[in-house]
Parts: sequence; structure tokens; C-alpha cells
Amino acid sequence: MFGTKYGCGACGAIFKDREDLLKHAQDLHDKKTTYLCITCDESFENESSFRMHMARDHRI
Ligand SMILES: [Zn+2]
Ligand SMILES: [Zn+2]
Repeated sequence: MFGTKYGCGACGAIFKDREDLLKHAQDLHDKKTTYLCITCDESFENESSFRMHMARDHRI
């Protein structure tokens, strides 16, 4: 999705790519992370919930 950025729900770090977020989570948070919406600070346990939120609430 164009314009979507990925936020780490554990520490708030922002990534352009999903893979960067996953790598970061594996390295720093023992694979446990959530998807953080950088627009409204809500976090989601999985990518599909995150994408649904972005589409529904932010029209991204
Ligand atoms: Zn993090
Ligand atoms: Zn949001």
C-alpha cells in the first residue's frame, strides 16, 4: 500500500518496509511485536487487522 509505514508496537520505531519491522522485532523484541498505526497510535496484533484499520479509518 502506498504511503503506509510500519511502526513497532513495542518501542514505537518506524519502518518503511514490513521486513525491516519484522527483522527489528526479531532482533530486539524476541519476535514479539505488534503493528503500530503511526497516525493514531493504535496497535494491532497482526498485519491483516492493521491493514483493515488503515483502509477503514484512514483510507490508505
Ligand atoms: Zn521495537
Ligand atoms: Zn490509525
